[in-house]
Amino acid sequence: MREESMQKERVIIVGSGPAGLSAAVYVGRAQLNPLVITGTQLGGQISLTHEVENYPGFYNPEGAPTGPELVEVLQKQAEHFGARFAYEEVVEVDFLNGPPYTVKTHAQTYSADAVLVTSGASPKHLDVPGETEYVGRGVSYCGTCDGFFFRGKEVVVVGGGDSAMEESIFLTKFATKVTIVHRRDAFRAGPALQKRVFDNQKINVLWDTVLENIEGNGVVSCVQLRNLKTGERVEFSTDGVFIFVGHYPNSKFLEGQLAMDEHGYVITDEFMRTSASGVYAAGEIQDPHYRQIATSVGQGVAAAMQLERWLSAQE
Ligand code: NAP
Repeated sequence: MREESMQKERVIIVGSGPAGLSAAVYVGRAQLNPLVITGTQLGGQISLTHEVENYPGFYNPEGAPTGPELVEVLQKQAEHFGARFAYEEVVEVDFLNGPPYTVKTHAQTYSADAVLVTSGASPKHLDVPGETEYVGRGVSYCGTCDGFFFRGKEVVVVGGGDSAMEESIFLTKFATKVTIVHRRDAFRAGPALQKRVFDNQKINVLWDTVLENIEGNGVVSCVQLRNLKTGERVEFSTDGVFIFVGHYPNSKFLEGQLAMDEHGYVITDEFMRTSASGVYAAGEIQDPHYRQIATSVGQGVAAAMQLERWLSAQE
């Protein structure tokens, strides 16, 4: 890394989801003028979320706030307290030498006295034939982004968690029929979302079923399904396949730099500390369990407070 182009920062926050933006509010308010390196999607996963019904304190009988609305308010609040934003992606870090630590994007190399990693998680793929080939041509990981293209069409949703339920309900605004394909005979989603799914006349569920193949001719036209109990295979006609089968942590750029578990989640202690002194982590990059906006916000705030205390102790 070339020293001469180094931009010196006090605090860098990597990522701009609920954890990163909330931390930016607190670090900014502590007069530390943080630089938030946003990653490819300002706001992270909630930017792709249509309705946010369960963020405490944001109830509106006229309709829940959207993810982008929450992101906009959070960003303004962080900027109000002095946070700055770099719309770049971190590609490399050096947490083995320092502090100060080195954080590198495609465009710039930074040094920072303290770093808060909130790079979040991304949707998992099914890894079946046809999936990669048809991304953007019928295969999607985001109903909010792509639902509109399926007006008057029929779609398949894969998964049984909160995301699959929420997105299936959203997709019924456009699609005439939504078929949820789930590998077990029960959903893991919360009961409130399950009830909305079961009450929705446009949603049908295929239990104990896996999707094995996605086929089409330029765009998706059908999928191959297999019932795990009977072994029966069917060809199922569909215009789209929406996949919500969980997430993986965005920690590739941290490999060898921070201690991680076997799934690539950064290991933190109760003070949000990582294995590098002065490097903290918050949100889904270190949390495979809760993954709520509210929990990420709380973790971001906790990490920001600890980081600020650590910096003060260094002086
Ligand atoms: P998730 O809870 O991990 O659910 C993933 C689903 O995909 C599970 O039903 C799982 O089946 C299924 N699955 C996993 N791998 C599969 C494969 N290879 N083939 C077929 N099916 C597969 O993921 P999520 O729904 O994205 O939710 C992630 C977290 O975000 C959760 O903690 C959730 O509560 C939270 N979240 C909350 C909200 C909300 O509260 N409004 C909204 C969205 C997400 P099994 O059940 O058989 O394991």
